[in-house]
Amino acid sequence: MMTFNVVKLYRALIEKYRFARSLPYMFPPAHFAEKLALAIKESQKNEVFVICNVNIDNLTELNQAHGFNNMDKVLKIIEERICYLCGASGIVSRISNGELLLLLRPVYSLDDIVPMLRHLKNSITNVRHDNEKHVALTASIGASIYPIEGVKSEILIRHANLAMYSAKQSGKNRYEIYDSQSAFVEKNKFHKCELLRQAIVNKELELYYQPKIDLGNSKILGMEALVRWKHPVKGLLEPAAFLPEVISNGVGYELGLWVVESAASQIHEWNLQGIYLCVSVNISGAQIIHKSFLPDVNKILHKYHSVTPQMLEFEILESDAIDDVDRLTEAIQSYKTLGFKFSLDDFGTGYSSLLHLKAFPAEYVKIDKAFVNGIAKNEKDKELLETIIKLSHTFNFQVIAEGVESGQQQQILQDMGCKYAQGYFISRPIAASDVTSWVKSYLINHIK
Ligand code: C2E
Ligand code: MG
Ligand code: MG
Repeated sequence: MMTFNVVKLYRALIEKYRFARSLPYMFPPAHFAEKLALAIKESQKNEVFVICNVNIDNLTELNQAHGFNNMDKVLKIIEERICYLCGASGIVSRISNGELLLLLRPVYSLDDIVPMLRHLKNSITNVRHDNEKHVALTASIGASIYPIEGVKSEILIRHANLAMYSAKQSGKNRYEIYDSQSAFVEKNKFHKCELLRQAIVNKELELYYQPKIDLGNSKILGMEALVRWKHPVKGLLEPAAFLPEVISNGVGYELGLWVVESAASQIHEWNLQGIYLCVSVNISGAQIIHKSFLPDVNKILHKYHSVTPQMLEFEILESDAIDDVDRLTEAIQSYKTLGFKFSLDDFGTGYSSLLHLKAFPAEYVKIDKAFVNGIAKNEKDKELLETIIKLSHTFNFQVIAEGVESGQQQQILQDMGCKYAQGYFISRPIAASDVTSWVKSYLINHIK
């Protein structure tokens, strides 16, 4: 296939149609499918088309900010640009305000498709309307490729729409090319999110609690809440079986709130029994940053009035913390002024730079169990762990070692100056109903 510089081609086309007054290539949506079907029928062997759904981002907000009249003019300018860009051989159709369907051709080589989409995306930028005000526009673009992802016009259009929704979900202002393999994965993920949502509604989730203890004086530092799914068919499921694919989706936020509410209600119940335990919950960095989360948490604490922010702690994965460290650090400060505490979880696995670590506003670092695992058998592992503990102390963090499975490991940690520990040797995660008896027997066994 012949390769071609598409950018040059489009520039030439733009020049050519610069003075066109109307939009001669704009067709109503019903005609688009027909025209596309005809184009497919008449296509030559090896001919490739790109079908795009272009959807302007945040149109409701833009309409509110600039007014409908101004935005209509802005959208018209964008439509004109796109029509010129598609040229005489393209087809453009307005599905609704701010949403267009396009057929882009000729495509001389598959390598040209990404530059074409990039060029299309870049053409949807700032527009100045009558009041000389700039409107900053972005769009989410979904593309399907004939004949790779379909040979029927309706299917190609549907695939372009799906890719556009996926581009929106991935953060907008981007293009995505439909790919049946990843669409299957997406569909599967969506299904898993729905199942988890139903599990929350059907009260099938439960928090288990794992103690964290002070190695120096055997006091209980607190409990970590770990979610379990009491699946009606599959039995008790651990997070690895249902969390990884869904946690970054919408249901992750609902789950986070459910965890906070369940933990708060449990702390309140223990408080009423005269047992005062601090509980840490695992929350994603994105959720901590989300502007609704802190008000939502405060509402929950208001409901369970005996629970203070000092009794609730958030564990953030180190890998999560480095995604957007500045925004996360800023968000954490507003939680901390209210008294909430933070831990950096699975420390050592996220490859955060020392600079990030130094500035991270957490009280605790939890050293991942991978670093504890070999310390009783391997001198190098022991040295490595000791170095990590020293480093954490240098940055003024308190250190919790995770995954302590033997008395020998616990003793080594204590000798190294690690203050806190958690692991099967102390206790496995247990149901809430077993916590009070565990606390009582632990305290009886460790009275000095
Ligand atoms: P994590 O926060 O690091 O929690 C510690 C995990 O290590 C837990 O696994 C715990 O059961 C396990 N563990 C504790 N002590 C030992 C030990 O001595 N040996 C070994 N081999 N494992 C030990 P779990 O409950 O399966 O949770 C896995 C991960 O799932 C958690 O790691 C956390 O990142 C995530 N997770 C758990 N609950 C939630 C939740 O409510 N929300 C979110 N977002 N994530 C959660
Ligand atoms: Mg944790
Ligand atoms: Mg951990």
